Amino acid sequence: MVRQPVVQTTSPLGQDEDRDLRPQWLSEMVGQRQVYERIKIAIEAALKRGEPLGHILFDGPPGLGKTTFALCIPRELGVPIQIANGATLKAPKDIIPYLTNATERSVLFIDEIHRMHKSVEEFLYPAMEDFRIDLTLGEGINARTINMPLKPFTLIGATTRTGLLSAPLRERFQMREHLDFYSIEELAEIIRRNAVKLRVSVDEPAALEIAARSRGTPRVANNRLRWVRDYATSKANGRITLSVAQDALQMQGIDSLGLDPQDRKYLETIGRVFGGGPVGVEAVAHTMNVPSDTLIDEVEPFLLRSELLVRTPRGRRLTEAGFRHLGLPVPNQPQGFLF
Ligand code: ADP
Repeated sequence: MVRQPVVQTTSPLGQDEDRDLRPQWLSEMVGQRQVYERIKIAIEAALKRGEPLGHILFDGPPGLGKTTFALCIPRELGVPIQIANGATLKAPKDIIPYLTNATERSVLFIDEIHRMHKSVEEFLYPAMEDFRIDLTLGEGINARTINMPLKPFTLIGATTRTGLLSAPLRERFQMREHLDFYSIEELAEIIRRNAVKLRVSVDEPAALEIAARSRGTPRVANNRLRWVRDYATSKANGRITLSVAQDALQMQGIDSLGLDPQDRKYLETIGRVFGGGPVGVEAVAHTMNVPSDTLIDEVEPFLLRSELLVRTPRGRRLTEAGFRHLGLPVPNQPQGFLF
């Protein structure tokens, strides 16, 4: 007996803590202009032709808008969405109900699609390509395969690690869109809009300060804004001025680059314990007692992009900027030979 997934049409992600701030329509999304333009064209074409939208894969670090895009798209198309998570798709039987429940032109969103079991990936190939699944009935010499047609649907996948997807799966997505970090101005715009939604007044310099300390990520910007709002309510008659924002962020241990204590602990572990590296991420993860996936998915992308850290064939290394940011002496033998 296969488990029936919940078909969510109006309010996906019931537990969604970001729901009140998450853009509902593509036009409300800030930044990622090129991705936005391409998606809009694909949606318009699908609507004009009355065909399902091609499958889309979003990749990029957490909190940059993969889920937001995935939830806006069916709304724009006026179709229902089902939501699954790759981590729970361990065998073909786990995905069958989603596929058979998919209505014409509806969207199936698989978050963390890289965590899907290989057998599920393979099972998906004919579903994506020909809208059919091959079911094997019986066992041994009595086994036979029947083809079951599906309604034409759109698969949207999201992943923080495209590298972990097999090439055949990747290639079955008509569009592959990479989301990158946001500029400070884009994050400031998100903060201004969300301050209105949260009914808090934020001074312009404060909006820019929070944006600059948000690790290039809307989700982080929203979290920082919520905290600064709480701080302003509790300590300063509710209005977010520059000094209120600075005090609030300092209290959370957020530094001038927006790094939080975990980011700095990661850099410090490499700097102090491993002499700046090179060191394997597993060793750092053990020392810090955190899962290496957390470091790879959540901590490293922004540190790499800020050039505080580099990845070399022999492991992670702090850059000169990394040492300086921590206030550690830059080793005499700068690791220039590796760069
Ligand atoms: P991901 O799926 O990539 O981890 P999400 O789509 O869940 O990230 O985004 C996290 C939050 O950041 C959303 O709930 C939303 O509030 C905000 N956000 C993301 N992208 C944008 C954007 N382009 N414009 C405005 N807010 C955004």
